[in-house]
Amino acid sequence: MDILDLRPYETCSIRPPTENYSLTFRLARNCYWNKCAFCPVYKAGASFSKRPLSDVIDDIGRARMIDDYLFERGFGIPVYSEADLARARGLVEEIRRARWEAGILDDGDDEYAAPQEDMDPRFRWFMKWFRQKADIGDSINNILTWRIGGSKTCFLGDADSLVLKPGFILDVISRSRRSFPSLERFTIYGRTRTAARTRTSRELKEYARAGLHRVHFGMESGSDEVLKLVSKGETAADHVRGCLKVKEAGLSCSVYVMPGLGGERLSDRHVHGTVSVINQCGPDYVRIRTLEIFPMTPLERMRENGEFIEASEEQAVREIRAMVANITAHTAIFSDSASNLLDISGEHPDDRDSMLERVDSYLAMDPREKLEFSLKSRLQSFYGQYGAISDEILDSLEPYIAGGSIRFAAMPDTDLQKSIRLIRSRLMP
Ligand code: SF4
Repeated sequence: MDILDLRPYETCSIRPPTENYSLTFRLARNCYWNKCAFCPVYKAGASFSKRPLSDVIDDIGRARMIDDYLFERGFGIPVYSEADLARARGLVEEIRRARWEAGILDDGDDEYAAPQEDMDPRFRWFMKWFRQKADIGDSINNILTWRIGGSKTCFLGDADSLVLKPGFILDVISRSRRSFPSLERFTIYGRTRTAARTRTSRELKEYARAGLHRVHFGMESGSDEVLKLVSKGETAADHVRGCLKVKEAGLSCSVYVMPGLGGERLSDRHVHGTVSVINQCGPDYVRIRTLEIFPMTPLERMRENGEFIEASEEQAVREIRAMVANITAHTAIFSDSASNLLDISGEHPDDRDSMLERVDSYLAMDPREKLEFSLKSRLQSFYGQYGAISDEILDSLEPYIAGGSIRFAAMPDTDLQKSIRLIRSRLMP
């Protein structure tokens, strides 16, 4: 195969953590709602558009060619591994050079403004994905990560694929299966309002018959007051109805909840409403993602003008405790986000007691122990996400590093708090 036959396809970077190793196809770009006050993802000028089916089908064909080409070039032999990702960097350069020499200029050709140097690094990262055009490096990376992850899963993005008619999804899934027969699971993000008010039960069943397996909903809260405060554009009733309809259609239902989203003022109502919604609709999975206020979001402005008082780390943990203690539905609770201080995961209600024990052992610490615990936990999350500690974090810890280890006990509370704040401001959700 000629290297110039390879064409990039559009990938979805914003996806649930369980889809990190999934093949991705982009059916619509960005988020048409884009008003949630806490959400930084599409706030820097990304506009929503549905993509024509022919473009998506073309992308599936491009992905197939890249996969074949990588195999021809010896990737995955004897097995796909992380080493292939490192090796692929050279190949990407080779392809870019060949395309440039042939006068093909579509790679990375971004119509959005380039991120500014002094911008928050996480925001720069989000902006990187707002382009309308595909990038060969991202495409190769997507194929290789999917192969390394076992080649079984596919995520169809971006933010609410339930806006697409079942026939569209059916075509995409059947073409994907034909091109990649090892695919076993297809998932999407959806909004409960779309499931509750736009899609009929019959249409949702058609999604299931088409081969869709799971819908991930950003529920965030079950309190109408909190949902209104953060402009979620959905109600508790939408959450219940949307989740129940999806489950009744035979689809797996996964929801994200956000401790801290009610701030100090609405904490009790946030917990009460969220528990009530979960108990009414019994989602298959509840995923905890603690609120982190991102720069350039409406919620940051609300914090600055006093409209929103941020919850402390301890308050967010207390909210998680109250949710775990009061959820009666059978569900699996996961803490699969770096935003969470504690790893509280388990099958509910069977693992409830052990989950509560973990929370209580944190809550029983004195204030100083909590600070040291938080710094250690945040450092581990940073390692998990980036593989190494950055220079700015090392600088903040530098006075307390001796003999290759950090003397946490020597750090004054104020320095512990500063380092915790710095690390939290660098973690991706
Ligand atoms: S619907 Fe989802 S992607 Fe869109 S603004 Fe809200 S949280 Fe962000």
